[in-house]
Amino acid sequence: MAVSDPCIISVAITGSVTQPNQTPHLPITPEQIAISAIESWHAGAAIAHIHVRDPQTGQPTHNLDYYEEIRQRVWAETDIVLNFTTGGYLGLTEDERLETLRLRPEMGSYDAGSMNFGPGIFLNPPEFLRKMADGFQEYGVRPELECFDIGMIGNCLRLVEEGLIDQPLWWQFVLGVPGGAPATPKVLMTIVEMLPPGSQWSVIGIGRNQLAMNAMGILLGGHVRTGLEDNIYYRRGELAVSNAQLVERLARLTRELGRDVASPDQARQLLQLRGKG
Ligand code: ZN
Repeated sequence: MAVSDPCIISVAITGSVTQPNQTPHLPITPEQIAISAIESWHAGAAIAHIHVRDPQTGQPTHNLDYYEEIRQRVWAETDIVLNFTTGGYLGLTEDERLETLRLRPEMGSYDAGSMNFGPGIFLNPPEFLRKMADGFQEYGVRPELECFDIGMIGNCLRLVEEGLIDQPLWWQFVLGVPGGAPATPKVLMTIVEMLPPGSQWSVIGIGRNQLAMNAMGILLGGHVRTGLEDNIYYRRGELAVSNAQLVERLARLTRELGRDVASPDQARQLLQLRGKG
């Protein structure tokens, strides 16, 4: 973690919470998701975080074939790092959530604790955290340690001590979810100061917090995530027309603030990823 490191921009293409009736620009089909990831790569994204949706209903689904289709389409044209969700969506069983690891993406999201999540409860109890960590090690997938609150950092550090999570640690702070830590500069600073040496971290601000948290991440030597999973607006009252539009702004901002935008291979090097293969 240093301002001299190139800044890794992740793009979260569609997620599971954003509803198609909130924005006409949300990618739904595997083809739309792949095209959006490819456009985002052109705009400067090094990592694409993937969920899949049912093309008919637009709602999140758990069809592993869609993940594979997206990987093939995206890798036919780019070298972007693919990060498959293990959070899926509220309602999946623990075993279902871990199935995306069997596809052996280079990276997967690792939700580091339980919390109230909007109107629901997002369960990641201690035994499941262990089981999930085992899965990441078994399939050689780099976990993106998604922390929605400060206590979740402690959860991860305990598992690192137990040898269940491998170095280098790649943290993703998700700030501003109702039920999680608020998206404020003070919270971000506090979290960053808790990290062990050698960590790389990235920050997400949900909704209207997106750009401000991303700007802080760039300035503090961290990395950043944007995309329609986290926020659907470009600015107040104006919908973002694509994921690439959001990525493009971040790439511009990164360069204006004196940092390079990381290529996928630079991200692979910083995070010691397996490679496209
Ligand atoms: Zn996600």
